[in-house]
Amino acid sequence: MLLLASFVGETEREKKPVKQAVVMYGDETLFNSIENLSDESIQAFHDSLRALPEPPIGVLEQIKLFLEIKTMSKLEMALLLDSLFDAGDEHYALINQVNLFITSQDFESEEEFDYLNSSHDFPAHSIYGNWNTTKPHPYSIEIWESDSSQRLMLSNKDIGGYVSPVNKIVVTSTFGYRWERFHRGVDLDLQVWDTVKSVFSGKVRFAAYFGGYGRTVVVRHHNGLETLYAHLHRFKVSVGDEVEAGQLIGLGGSSGNSTGSHLHFECRFKGVAINPTQIIDFKEEKLVNDKVTLIKNKWGYTAIPDGVEYYTVKRGDYLMKIADMYGTSCKQLCDDNQIKRNTPLRVGQKIRIL
Ligand SMILES: [Zn+2]
Repeated sequence: MLLLASFVGETEREKKPVKQAVVMYGDETLFNSIENLSDESIQAFHDSLRALPEPPIGVLEQIKLFLEIKTMSKLEMALLLDSLFDAGDEHYALINQVNLFITSQDFESEEEFDYLNSSHDFPAHSIYGNWNTTKPHPYSIEIWESDSSQRLMLSNKDIGGYVSPVNKIVVTSTFGYRWERFHRGVDLDLQVWDTVKSVFSGKVRFAAYFGGYGRTVVVRHHNGLETLYAHLHRFKVSVGDEVEAGQLIGLGGSSGNSTGSHLHFECRFKGVAINPTQIIDFKEEKLVNDKVTLIKNKWGYTAIPDGVEYYTVKRGDYLMKIADMYGTSCKQLCDDNQIKRNTPLRVGQKIRIL
């Protein structure tokens, strides 16, 4: 019986591609039909709703988010769905829409790695085992899900040190999953034509135009991290180039979906964005510590550099309470953690206190 069943399945597959079942939560979706809906037509739909006498604010927000979510990797979408579930049932329409989108997409190509270099000729091979030069975020969930924690040496005399990505660091937008947007990096102020440098040594894995990111460079570093530099005006490196820390990789700009010139800078480990301010002290323009432990949590990784103390947020905590507990000020906590006074604290979140 079993054999027969699988045989029938195979012939069916040859005739037409098997449609995966989509798990739906309620029956709401954002759009009546998603089949072949282009980004432009979704944007036009959004604009027509916005022009109504009483625009549906919640739906407008969700449509904007959906457009943003479409640029994410499958792994990022999975993490995002988790956090949307945590946020409650008002997001079911968006969750359903993302699920439909994931099912409609052929993510097969994410498993195809182009081995540009024979054997181990690229950095951090033992961590990644692949080298993809066509996608900024090529990693599947499998590379990540069985991890618990990982210790990294970010800088030493063999792999070099850290150099700031731009000349004068002004952080204009911080890292975080917020309801209004999912910011997977930090924004650093710059003028068009300003130099953008690789923060660590490594090899250029990706250098091309990528949707809302605009001109984007991704460098795989010998220390195991990957960094991403988006909205560039010009490329100064190509795929496969070896770079030193501080080496020019591009000129800053506002290509892609960007209001005003700035550098969107991401630090990733196995494709999962980590908060750059957890490992880089942007004020002092140096690493918090050469050694860091990445601890996997539900949403990604928390980076804990050596010599730094963290407090884990508990139910009922608020910033002033934590500041009082450790004899520090709200301003100091905000500066150290790159958060604002009104940033909501999440239970389980780690707040740097030292
Ligand atoms: Zn950004």
